[in-house]
Amino acid sequence: RAKEQGKNNYVFFRENMHTEPYERITLENSLHRALEKQEFIVHYQPQVDVKTGNIRGLEALIRWQHPEFGLVSPGKFIPIAEETGLIVPIGEWVMREACLQNKRWQELGLPDFRVAVNLSTQQFLKSNLVETVKRTLEETGLAPQFLELEITETMTMDVDYTIPTLRQLHELGVQISIDDFGTGYSSLHYLKEFSIHRLKIDQSFVREIMTDVNDASIVETIIAMAHNLGLEVIAEGVEEKEQLRFLQCKKCDEVQGYYFSKPIAAKEFEENFVELQRQTKNRY
Ligand code: C2E
Ligand code: MG
Ligand code: MG
Ligand code: MG
Repeated sequence: RAKEQGKNNYVFFRENMHTEPYERITLENSLHRALEKQEFIVHYQPQVDVKTGNIRGLEALIRWQHPEFGLVSPGKFIPIAEETGLIVPIGEWVMREACLQNKRWQELGLPDFRVAVNLSTQQFLKSNLVETVKRTLEETGLAPQFLELEITETMTMDVDYTIPTLRQLHELGVQISIDDFGTGYSSLHYLKEFSIHRLKIDQSFVREIMTDVNDASIVETIIAMAHNLGLEVIAEGVEEKEQLRFLQCKKCDEVQGYYFSKPIAAKEFEENFVELQRQTKNRY
């Protein structure tokens, strides 16, 4: 099958090789029932405004509490879910869960922030995506401006599909960001045609921002380009104060990373919100 589908699949299988064959088969078998057995949970990681230290958004990141393996990271099971098609119902569950959660936080009186959901390739390319997003918003009661969808550059290669789809999502009122920006195959030519709000600079560039001049200049250039295109920029993987200072100095809009907080359970976020917000304000 890998051969049939060409080059892309090779990368895909290489990623999966981290998982041992036995573990992989067991994971795949139990993945089929994980949704109905309610084994998934969503963790949330704050996205912080560089100018004010306010929490502006939260990224929803799925985790799987496997009865045998314990907590399984998405890096291990998302590729299997993609390959088996299970990613579609799983992804729809995450979107619904994140919208419900954000709505609940608003009702509790927390300040308004966006919740960002990662879309998989299959979800994005599925023809009823716009309908699904619309229905999820209606059913959960979340206003569209509080939902953000993260797509990757590689998903946008079919521009005849991408341009109208992003426009329809934009018309619904949700926000769109390009995740892992700089690591895929994006056409700068089409970037201006896409109805998007934000670029997320991949953490691989942020990691060595203080020691690698090439990474520093890539990050600086992405920020300047995004702003010239009227887009916002968020940097992921910020772990140190110096990285934050650099990004502040280059006028990056938002930051996300362990320096502020790891992804945490909804309850933990809710119960510690005041303290968390104080911490991010002290640190920024
Ligand atoms: P991503 O969307 O690029 O998410 C960022 C990843 O970086 C998360 O890993 C997050 O925990 C991690 N991270 C955040 N801050 C730092 C930091 O300061 N340092 C380091 N080293 N890492 C940091 P996670 O949660 O393991 O997720 C990995 C990937 O799995 C995500 O990358 C995303 O592509 C995918 N994923 C997660 N949840 C979903 C989902 O619901 N649906 C889909 N389709 N994919 C998902
Ligand atoms: Mg993401
Ligand atoms: Mg990312
Ligand atoms: Mg990533």
